Amino acid sequence: MQNGSISKLKQSLRGSVIERGDANFDEARALYNGMIDKHPLAIARCADAADVIAAVNFGRDNDLPIAIRAGGHNGPGLASVEDGLVIDLSAMRGVRVDPAKRRVRVGAGCVSGDVDHATHVFGQAVPFGIISTTGVAGLTLSGGHGYLSHQYGLAVDNLIEADVVLADGSFVTASETENPDLFWALRGGGGNFGVVTSFVFRTNPASTVYGGPIIFDIADAGTVMRWYREFQASAPDEFYIFLGLNAVPPGDPFPKEHWGKKMCVLLVSHNGPTADGEKAVNAIRAELPKPIIDWAAPMPYLALQSLFDGLYPKGLQWYWKGDFVKTLPDAAIEAHLANAAKMPSAISGMHLYPIDGAVHRHKTDETAWNCRDATWSMVIVGVDPDPKKAPALKKWAQDYWAAVHPFDLVGAYPNFMMDDEGDARLKASFGDNYPRLAALKKRYDPANLFHVNQNIRPAA
Ligand SMILES: Cc1cc2nc3c(=O)[nH]c(=O)nc-3n(C[C@H](O)[C@H](O)[C@H](O)COP(=O)(O)OP(=O)(O)OC[C@H]3O[C@@H](n4cnc5c(N)ncnc54)[C@H](O)[C@@H]3O)c2cc1C
Repeated sequence: MQNGSISKLKQSLRGSVIERGDANFDEARALYNGMIDKHPLAIARCADAADVIAAVNFGRDNDLPIAIRAGGHNGPGLASVEDGLVIDLSAMRGVRVDPAKRRVRVGAGCVSGDVDHATHVFGQAVPFGIISTTGVAGLTLSGGHGYLSHQYGLAVDNLIEADVVLADGSFVTASETENPDLFWALRGGGGNFGVVTSFVFRTNPASTVYGGPIIFDIADAGTVMRWYREFQASAPDEFYIFLGLNAVPPGDPFPKEHWGKKMCVLLVSHNGPTADGEKAVNAIRAELPKPIIDWAAPMPYLALQSLFDGLYPKGLQWYWKGDFVKTLPDAAIEAHLANAAKMPSAISGMHLYPIDGAVHRHKTDETAWNCRDATWSMVIVGVDPDPKKAPALKKWAQDYWAAVHPFDLVGAYPNFMMDDEGDARLKASFGDNYPRLAALKKRYDPANLFHVNQNIRPAA
């Protein structure tokens, strides 16, 4: 790659190009996961779709590996690439809400907090994830589940339209009526088909929720988990409860006597009339052991969405292992408890996120996102600020996963996968949809220009 060529890219962008040697290079290449340390050749910080077209054409014509970056939250750091070009969308953060039509147009660099903030004032929301600094683009393109998913489905189930720059540099819109095949593939197929420059989502009623954490002593975790597996099946639409095996964070606002204690947490969200929410949560309180902390209460949906942002700032060491889970037999619960007991840090943990309600009301071939017959999306995360702990975080997550995996389904949520999982795992996650995805990859990106991702190879 000639420096002269990078100057050419600079001239064609309204945004900036950050290169090795630039004062802000290290800050610009840093990803959310501090375990990842990639040195791209250049970072094209795009200002608009025209910049994205220029960057895609430049990367392709110069044979550079291309990574696409939105929120930069991806576990294995697929938003960057060694010695290649990062198409960085993080400056494209415009949001326009149409409250009457219940739609929101979202720039590809938005984090979910940007959109939540803009829609909340109208009492509306799109189902995104549980941390407000996660990028909308990466989360959505591989599915996107969160507190509103039981009621309103995945982020992809609320996607109406996307503008996309394809591998040949052309710009298209994908929706049910325009390029419907591409639209199907974008709803779960990740960054394989092009660079999305903006999304249009349906918004849904969400304002004050009755929600928050209810924390139990780890001694009661088995009881809570057995209750949870039964509750889940009959939970009303408004209710979303995810379960965690974690430790009480050692800091404010948690009571000092509980700091560092292993715990089982129910993260509750009831998105309906507050009185109904309180009644519903009181009913589960009556069925469960006495919690050590109970902070479930009426709160703005916006507050629930950012409840954990402070616990998980950018730059921590993260190692992820996931699975889709259908049932939680007693033996699986025992394996969970045995491995959670060995948690290597105060902010590591295991979460079970419900996949049910509105998510189950779509057919498995309706979108590329296939695993709609799962009951939970499980993630095990080893997390700590100290880079020296990285091997221990990784080993714990891998051992934990190996112990519970025999009880789980074969595939995992691609957004919870690292880059060392192998093709078979990804194929299993897409199930019967994989051949169609591979055929569409061949149509839209035959040379696999967009391969720095959970890669779907073009059909032979
Ligand atoms: C703390 C934390 C909490 C999380 N919680 C949840 C949760 O509650 N629910 C959930 O579903 N997931 C959750 N996730 C997982 C999250 O969905 C993934 O990490 C996702 O990849 C993040 O999206 P991003 O835009 O930040 O990613 P990036 O790292 O920027 O991008 C990831 C990949 O997405 C693709 N991509 C990104 N932008 C585009 C684009 N515009 N066009 C085409 N391809 C693109 C590329 O392939 C890229 O490699 C969480 C992650 C973290 C770190």
